[in-house]
Amino acid sequence: MDMNKSIKCMVESCQHHANAANYCCLDCITVGTHECNPSVDQCTDCMSFKKK
Ligand code: SF4
Repeated sequence: MDMNKSIKCMVESCQHHANAANYCCLDCITVGTHECNPSVDQCTDCMSFKKK
């Protein structure tokens, strides 16, 4: 898998993670939220996450 140097990511449990480095291997990702009114970074989620 080629890493995408435009998408940094530290979620090693995701199957799209580059493993050897903290990057995503997808061409693009979708970022969403689980909150009605997101106010801090913890309110956002990578919707492209897939568990290894
Ligand atoms: S899909 Fe999202 S969570 Fe998974 S490696 Fe890419 S950026 Fe990280």
